[in-house]
Amino acid sequence: MTRTSVTSILNEPLIFERSAPGKSAYSLPRLDVEDVPVEEILDSKYLRTEVRGFPEVSEVELIRHFTRLSTWNYHIDLGMYPLGSCTMKYNPKLNERVARIPSIALTHPLQEEQHSQGSLEILFRLQECLKELTAMDAVSLQPAGGAQAELIGILMIRAHLTQKGSPRKFVLIPDSAHGTNPASAVLAGYDVISIPSDKKGRIDVKVMAEKMSEEVACLMLTNPNTMGIFETHIEEIAQIVHQKGGLIYMDGANFNALMGYARPGEMGIDVLHLNLHKTFSTPHGGGGPGSGPVVCKEHLAPYLPVPRVEQEGGLYRLNSDKPESVGRVHSFHGNFGMAVRALCYILSCGREGLKELSEMAVLSANYIRRQLEDHYDLPYDTDILHEVVFSDKKQHKNGVTTQDIAKRLIDYGFHPTTTYFTLIVQCALMMEPTESHSKEELDAFIDAMIAISREARDDPEKVLSAPATAKLTRLDEVRAARSAILRWEP
Ligand SMILES: *Cc1c(COP(=O)(O)O)cnc(C)c1O
Repeated sequence: MTRTSVTSILNEPLIFERSAPGKSAYSLPRLDVEDVPVEEILDSKYLRTEVRGFPEVSEVELIRHFTRLSTWNYHIDLGMYPLGSCTMKYNPKLNERVARIPSIALTHPLQEEQHSQGSLEILFRLQECLKELTAMDAVSLQPAGGAQAELIGILMIRAHLTQKGSPRKFVLIPDSAHGTNPASAVLAGYDVISIPSDKKGRIDVKVMAEKMSEEVACLMLTNPNTMGIFETHIEEIAQIVHQKGGLIYMDGANFNALMGYARPGEMGIDVLHLNLHKTFSTPHGGGGPGSGPVVCKEHLAPYLPVPRVEQEGGLYRLNSDKPESVGRVHSFHGNFGMAVRALCYILSCGREGLKELSEMAVLSANYIRRQLEDHYDLPYDTDILHEVVFSDKKQHKNGVTTQDIAKRLIDYGFHPTTTYFTLIVQCALMMEPTESHSKEELDAFIDAMIAISREARDDPEKVLSAPATAKLTRLDEVRAARSAILRWEP
């Protein structure tokens, strides 16, 4: 059954088109203290007399404009967001409440250490929690997201190997890795050797062992990989890489598949990153702030970004005296507000709670898989953890593609799934429900997917012309990416 579409179609002009000279979005009483002309304070050459094309609107016009635009948006507080490799889980409002406590939200990063003990304690305690969850030895909370964290992790490996004699030349990356992995390795100065997946969708250990040499700096492994499949040979893999003096980087962005069950430090991993904005429920999407802590073993700790948050004699302090560090990678302490939310989430869930969340994330993905496997092609028949990948093979016969199916989901009131990724599946449809949804919500999503597969068979035009209910329908995505216009000109 079609759910009511959540997208209102309103015609809202640009704010520039609403503008009329002389309108203003505030009204305040006149100053009753003596007014010093601004020219007496600032040199007039710094004063702007006119802003070209600046919109002039009233307060109510301003508020309504942005409120109307917001109704065109789909968001996690509105409904399910089944994007794969994204972990769009619900962010409990308790996190927001805590992050807004004035003594936390308004503290200034340049305040003296002795007056920032509470804020530093938050950072320190979060580091301790992440060490415990991963069985690793040291953490930096500075990186602003997963991709930046990967680059830092590889630079740390580079610094470590350089110190041991040679940075080496290559990084091994399975073809099922997240796309940011090869980009990070190349940015850090390495050439990438791609390792194929086996029939089960896991890294081909035999090929990996052949490619591993003393020219290889590290293996970069997304685990679970972008098929949602756990690399069960991880200990053997680590042994092969370590024997040749290489290191293992684990992309742990999707840690909610493992949290409470498996700890990377016990699998032979040397360094990994976590995405607080995925696993630990801090908001993400829409370009908001992220946080990608880098977590490593003792032998890589000297290279972590500075300053490091440390505890000494009951006091917390920032230590930048680390001569081997790769340096500072973010202003101040990283995205502090994300750290507050993540610590609140971890403490409010507790150890057992976090474990249960992983269970629910894995159960939900497997439930979707079982319910949909008769309706959509399942390229790999291997057990999965937190996400499932189908393809459009069955629907393609009627000319309906992954893109069309994703667009049709909008009409059923859901955000589209991830499309055309992972790359090892042709025309992939990747779904990650996360642990946030009730069985009823999962069933509604499954019903929508089944209904679309029926439409693709009986009435393909309906799917091909979707979405029927969205404000904007089929955008030219290639043109949008290649010739983006980021600025409105009057
Ligand atoms: C999301 C994700 C990344 C990238 O993280 P960002 O914070 O978006 O830079 C890297 N690897 C995996 C496996 C991911 O899911």
